[in-house]
Amino acid sequence: MESFRYFLPAMDLIFGRGNLECVRSEVKKIGKKALLVTGKKSMEKLGFLKKSIDSLEKEGLDVVHYGEVEPNPTVDIVNKGAEKAIDSCCDIIVGLGGGSAIDTAKNIAVVAGHYEGERRSIWEFAGVHDKPRQITLKTLPVVAITSTSGTGSHVSRFAVVTNEETREKIGIMSPFICPKLSIVDIDILSCMPSSLTSKTGFDALTHLMECFVSKRGNPITDLYCLKAMELIFDYLPRAYNDGGDVEAREAMALADIFAGWALVTSRPVLPHALSHPVSAFYPEIDHGVALAALTPEIMRFNIERGNEQTISKYCQIAKVGEEKIDSCKREEAFKSVKVVQKLLEKIELDLTLKDLSVEENSFEGMVESAFATMKGPIEANPIPVTREDILDLYSRSM
Ligand code: NDP
Ligand code: MN
Repeated sequence: MESFRYFLPAMDLIFGRGNLECVRSEVKKIGKKALLVTGKKSMEKLGFLKKSIDSLEKEGLDVVHYGEVEPNPTVDIVNKGAEKAIDSCCDIIVGLGGGSAIDTAKNIAVVAGHYEGERRSIWEFAGVHDKPRQITLKTLPVVAITSTSGTGSHVSRFAVVTNEETREKIGIMSPFICPKLSIVDIDILSCMPSSLTSKTGFDALTHLMECFVSKRGNPITDLYCLKAMELIFDYLPRAYNDGGDVEAREAMALADIFAGWALVTSRPVLPHALSHPVSAFYPEIDHGVALAALTPEIMRFNIERGNEQTISKYCQIAKVGEEKIDSCKREEAFKSVKVVQKLLEKIELDLTLKDLSVEENSFEGMVESAFATMKGPIEANPIPVTREDILDLYSRSM
């Protein structure tokens, strides 16, 4: 066995139905004044924003609401939130929502925590520079209350942000942005409409499949991946067809956590490397949708060129998806693409980049963006790739 290193996130995780209430007693152990970060609509409309504020205030906490987060949050959204946290002297950042709200909360915690009289931008902390500003223990504590099951952001040390000017979408990584407390309330997750369930659920599946075949995987992440892929193949179509199916929601929430914990050590590979530029160039294309359009062709590519170990991994994915595998050969490994396509059909996400109105004239720019911002996932791919390969994969996904 190859030697490996596993990062175990230190956090308090509360999982179950109706436990948004726990926020009140738990958060006051961590801070006194909270910046509550949400998207623009859903949490307010569904009543969870008011519930959170009431709970926190009942315990004597001061709450400042920042509800400006949009999907694929930008540097500007993070910096404005950080300004609010600094001006209001918040000492804890609570993210309530999907990956966008939670990532923004984490990034705000970085900027506000490192404030020393001079305003900084989250982009200064991004790994795209030769010498990014260090993220340290000064980062404010983060509490995450997830409203989607897909990004694993509520249990991970990553936070994604998009730079609109440079059209780059990157993941900030630090153990200090891991939420101290993470609340998974199935009642909030049950409110997801079916289209959100499919997009986010497929995102979680790609985290698992990618971490499983990744060069950076290890026996611990493999365990999480195998169990959670099985949960998703079984339960995502159920959650998609009936949002109120509590068992399916619980299974998806669990799979999302396992995926997050696989991601903390292993690395995603090409589908994430190629999907970030798609959302950076076309912000209206959601992360999970971009992944759905790219994943099947990338799987084929990896299987076409894969060595024995990679082929074996794809055969195991096929088996988890309930394809019968006689002996693990390259031909059999292609069955993994079949199970993924079947799943995509069931959740109505079987689409191409063309369906999403991606234009061929953006391919060159997207390839550059992938190499500039997604070097880690590109290098973690089990098959080495060139610029031409990536260009070809974008074309094949049309
Ligand atoms: P978002 O947080 O972007 O939310 C998508 C939409 O769904 C929003 O319009 C939001 O509304 C709405 N919504 C969220 N929860 C509910 C709910 N329970 N009921 C009804 N509507 C709801 O979705 P994701 O969770 O998929 O996050 C995607 C982001 O996370 C991307 O930026 C992606 O790059 C990033 N990401 C981060 C990772 C990480 O490790 N940190 C890993 C993978 C992806 P509103 O805006 O009004 O709240
Ligand atoms: Mn993802």
